[in-house]
Amino acid sequence: MSVRLSIVVPVYNEVESLRPLHAEIVRAVQPLGLPYEILYVNDGSRDGSAALLDELAQQDPHVAVLHLARNYGQTAALAAGFDHARGEFVVTLDGDGQNDPGDIPRLLAELEKGYDLVNGWRTPRQDPFWSRRLPSWVANRLIGWITGVRLHDYGCTLRVLRQPVAKGLRLYGELHRFIPALAEDLGARIQEIPVHHRARRYGRSKYGLSRTWKVLLDLITVKFLSSYSTRPIQIFGSIGVVCGAAGLALTAYLGLQRLLLGHPLANRPLLWLGILLTLMGLQFVTMGLLGELLVRTYHESQRKPIYRLARRVDLPSHPG
Ligand code: UDP
Ligand code: MG
Repeated sequence: MSVRLSIVVPVYNEVESLRPLHAEIVRAVQPLGLPYEILYVNDGSRDGSAALLDELAQQDPHVAVLHLARNYGQTAALAAGFDHARGEFVVTLDGDGQNDPGDIPRLLAELEKGYDLVNGWRTPRQDPFWSRRLPSWVANRLIGWITGVRLHDYGCTLRVLRQPVAKGLRLYGELHRFIPALAEDLGARIQEIPVHHRARRYGRSKYGLSRTWKVLLDLITVKFLSSYSTRPIQIFGSIGVVCGAAGLALTAYLGLQRLLLGHPLANRPLLWLGILLTLMGLQFVTMGLLGELLVRTYHESQRKPIYRLARRVDLPSHPG
């Protein structure tokens, strides 16, 4: 029977959590009656998780383990899971047991209402306030505001996606935090429901405060890609035109003063600003044009369309 549900679990040094978590996942998904697979992605663990996962794969025919060659980070681990997932529904959850597999049936039920991605919202969240909950709150507001996809909890790994969305995501760096925003860019319909959250019982969190400013930079990337990736000249060109126009206006003003009124120019700092702005304007427009070349190279070298087709409808007798 072909697999309909894939559960993807990224694992980095979570050896104590894995057995109880596996039992919980099985208990949650077996009653659904959907043929399922559980893909554990071992992201270069060094604590015995690898051997334990191999053992699970020996004992349970539903389990497959993907061992990454080294530790690449949670984004890459999820990407590997998505690449290998065969089910039409793809669920992701953390390997540390903080997400409750018991929530999976509710996520699936919500998806069935006509969504392409249903995200968990960990509430009440069982993490320290100053180092985790507060920065997350700020990040969620900011990401929601900039991307227009307003969710309470971007950081929740517990979510379900339809396969075309999971496979359509292009994940780089640490972009797993932006999965809902990236999915929305693929045209996915998105919903969010509250899910349980539990304190970490074993092992240690892999993240701390230091990532906060990285999220800001990633946010710029995501916004740029979703809004301007096929028209870079519009963003760079706009900045260039504003700079260039201001620069030209300044130099013209100073030039007229010099020619008509005879004011000397050598002692006018404004002149430097005018020249700087004019050159910056030129540079920005040129950068935009280079961007346009890159877009064409990217799409045309891979025959990659600039759209994603949801479906095509024809007469049944259409030759196709
Ligand atoms: N993880 C991973 N690779 C990494 C870091 C984390 O696969 O380099 C996994 C980790 O094992 C866990 C999940 O990603 O299953 C979330 O990590 P963590 O619990 O440390 O994050 P937090 O819940 O503290 O945000
Ligand atoms: Mg965790």
